Amino acid sequence: MSVLITNVGELVTNQPEADAGAGPGGSRRFAAVREAALVIDEGRVAWTGPASRAPAADQVIDAGGRAVLPGFVDSHAHLVFAGERGAEFAARMAGQPYQAGGIRSTVAATRDASDDHLRANLRKLAAEMLAQGTTTFECKSGYGLTVRDEARSVGLAAEVTPEVTYLGAHVVPPEFEPDPGGYVDLVCGAMLDACAPHAKWVDVFCERGAFGRDEAAAVLAAGAAAGLQSRVHANQLGTGPGVQLAVQAGAASADHCTYLDDADVDALASSATVATLLPGVEFSTRHPYPDARRLLEAGATVALATDCNPGSCFTSSMAFCIALAVREMHMTTQEAAWAATAGGARALRRADVGHLGAGARADLVMLDAPSHAYLAYRPGVPLVAAVWRAGERVAGG
Ligand SMILES: [Zn+2]
Repeated sequence: MSVLITNVGELVTNQPEADAGAGPGGSRRFAAVREAALVIDEGRVAWTGPASRAPAADQVIDAGGRAVLPGFVDSHAHLVFAGERGAEFAARMAGQPYQAGGIRSTVAATRDASDDHLRANLRKLAAEMLAQGTTTFECKSGYGLTVRDEARSVGLAAEVTPEVTYLGAHVVPPEFEPDPGGYVDLVCGAMLDACAPHAKWVDVFCERGAFGRDEAAAVLAAGAAAGLQSRVHANQLGTGPGVQLAVQAGAASADHCTYLDDADVDALASSATVATLLPGVEFSTRHPYPDARRLLEAGATVALATDCNPGSCFTSSMAFCIALAVREMHMTTQEAAWAATAGGARALRRADVGHLGAGARADLVMLDAPSHAYLAYRPGVPLVAAVWRAGERVAGG
């Protein structure tokens, strides 16, 4: 059955087909049609254009002048965990510094939790994302850090998304503190063997205090040999080798990018590696925000994601991240909307989501607002009126 959504005040399409010759990444431009309509058929976008020229369909929905965007693509989230760290957040806001040790409390709680408990928490967060317009999300392991607990983490993640990331190399767990090399061997050996069948991606936290360049390179290489594509937590807490490693390894994305030198910016601008910015982390830790303008002006591809996790940033709201990107990182509303949709799709190497070109998966967000700009103009207000995923209405009346 075909569905025509008409009387759309602003239809954000990010239409990549118009720029087919734009190079390996295709278009990196926000694009929208005013007074628009869209036809969904068989779970795909069949047609977009001016409402006055819309074809007939089996069912008609009147958007009443509201805006429709591609569903958000959240390319960075840590949703398999137990416990919470609200008191740690409150203490940080009261002036105590962010301590990496907090991850350990989540690791301990996750190891102790039953599969059903982890599954229930994961599904609750996934539902929370969907209700806020996120129709594609990535989900990492990384709070198990044993063969058993990492394997069940990726297995649970695979129940809710195809974008599953093996992050055994999140931190060195306490029992391996005297032997971090032994832990890297485990991550590249038995743990990888147990996790690779459920995962698409391998990720590593390349940072002082976590994993150095050579260890991170070994993790990515072992992952690649097991068929996993790379992504890297890079340059979050200081300058370092993370971004260069990501680019050299052909990673889909270097995430955080808070502290970059000129060579890092050049490397991102001249590669297909997406710079994924996670401003919710800087908001929640009171760290300085990444310099989005420097990346955009150099020509890098920028994505926005939540980094939803119980420690450094516990938001699942892409709208909130868009508002931060506009207000705090000086991205235009168009750049931020693109980065939260098409940018995220690039960071996950997905051509079927993040835009509403003909043939795209019919993942849509309808806002109770006339344009995408309201996502930043009305921060904190629940503007999502309805959500469709693969052509099916999954939220909204
Ligand atoms: Zn992360």
